[in-house]
Amino acid sequence: MENSLLITGASQLLTLRRVGPRRGDSLSNLGLIKDGALLVRDGVIAAVGTRAQVEALPEARVAEKLDLGGRVALPGFVDSHTHLIHAASRAEEYELKIAGASYEEIARKGGGILNSVKKLRAATAEELKKRAKAALRQFAAYGTTTIEAKSGYGLDVASELKILKLHKELATEQPLEIASTFLGAHVVPEEYRKKKDGAERYIKMMEENLLPEIAQKRLAEFCDVFCDRGAFNVAQAKRVLQAGRQWGLEPRMHAEQLSHTGAAQLGILLRAASCDHLEQLNKKDVRAFGKSETVATLLPGCDFHLGLKKYAPARELIEAGAIVALATDYNPGTSPTLSMPMILSLACTQLRMTPAETIAAATINGAYALGREKRVGSLEVNKQADVAVFEVADYREIPYYFGVNHCWMTLKRGRVIHAANEPTT
Ligand SMILES: [Zn+2]
Repeated sequence: MENSLLITGASQLLTLRRVGPRRGDSLSNLGLIKDGALLVRDGVIAAVGTRAQVEALPEARVAEKLDLGGRVALPGFVDSHTHLIHAASRAEEYELKIAGASYEEIARKGGGILNSVKKLRAATAEELKKRAKAALRQFAAYGTTTIEAKSGYGLDVASELKILKLHKELATEQPLEIASTFLGAHVVPEEYRKKKDGAERYIKMMEENLLPEIAQKRLAEFCDVFCDRGAFNVAQAKRVLQAGRQWGLEPRMHAEQLSHTGAAQLGILLRAASCDHLEQLNKKDVRAFGKSETVATLLPGCDFHLGLKKYAPARELIEAGAIVALATDYNPGTSPTLSMPMILSLACTQLRMTPAETIAAATINGAYALGREKRVGSLEVNKQADVAVFEVADYREIPYYFGVNHCWMTLKRGRVIHAANEPTT
């Protein structure tokens, strides 16, 4: 069969098999198969098991062969929180932050998100697309095969639609899968800040002019709100997320990052797909996540880049039974990385998660956060053959070697989308 592919030679094949999100002890269950193999048919996994089991299948004999040479293979990472489309870096603010300016001080001086808004509005769709495509190639090079992407640097009708349309175009023009999120409620834009009830007027504008068009053109699956000090309060966040849901967009939130506002409890109440950040969670919040289907997505790259000392309470969340996911929060202001392996390293050392827990959080639980757990996030029959292969002997070495890319090959739907250069001898 010409569309069949037999993948062998995985010293450790991390299948992440078993339906449903991973909570508590099950977060460290990777479904590891030694000397594992996969049979892929038309981009979908047809069989998974040991080499002996899979090679015994009649179809395996006639399939195209790919030998991983004893490397470690796992599901492609599912990065469930990124701000893919932006116009430029904010390296100048990085320097100010190192000199002691706080994130909020920089925002008050017209820096921060509003700085990115100014640059995005001035950029053409072509420029933004070129930058995003380069980033997507890098995501693939670090083993990521599915991402979520948020708008939120446009903050007016034309610019927000420009970003969301790019998500849609990019989803068909390059191999990575993109889940599109409308984050109009990122901050209140400059032109509304001067007005009385500026935030309320801006929300009204989104309700009347943006959400109907986004829904009609199917430009987003999710609606997100940055609910925090200096952004939107809980009542405003609730209004935005309910409006989004009326237009068919599932809620998700930036919650409890800079201050404790009650955002996480709102997210849980609204059955949001995920609440992300969570550095300021209290014990009651942690318990609530343990009983909730809302994914607790942790973004340690953000705290690392900002030099903050307080990370999210990952161990407490895991012990409470929460569905914990990890994501990069790729964005120019607070987490300019698209390397999921780096996030795993940070999660191990700063969040005290085990290497196994970090891998489950960045694959199957990330898929769950995006409502894609039936198609991606694990290597099981009838799921997409999205595979990341690492040049290591043991999966624990993926977070152990930090700041170095050991991703040797990435496959999306059974097709190679990244291959490391062969070492020259
Ligand atoms: Zn974010």
